[in-house]
Amino acid sequence: MVHPARVKSKGLNGVPHLPFQEFAVPSLEAFLSVLKKAKIRDSEIEVSSSVESQHTMCSRPLIHVLVMTAKGSGPAEYRDLAALYQYCPGCRTAVRIL
Ligand SMILES: [Zn+2]
Repeated sequence: MVHPARVKSKGLNGVPHLPFQEFAVPSLEAFLSVLKKAKIRDSEIEVSSSVESQHTMCSRPLIHVLVMTAKGSGPAEYRDLAALYQYCPGCRTAVRIL
């Protein structure tokens, strides 16, 4: 299960996907471990499922995966969204939407 790592891009802080890139992932856990292995600088990964957004392909609820970066060295209140993904557990695909 190797995902063709085209353009190991200089991307934002090492986020391993390009905006609007869609790719297959075997499971949410596998996807999260890919993100963790990417060692995105000063990042925290948050997962939230929301009932409001559904995958247009299969109308299952999407899971949002947020990559947050802490700005500077202060308390975590000042944070930035480095990347946002939507993962569909039905289709097992993820899309980077931000
Ligand atoms: Zn789907």
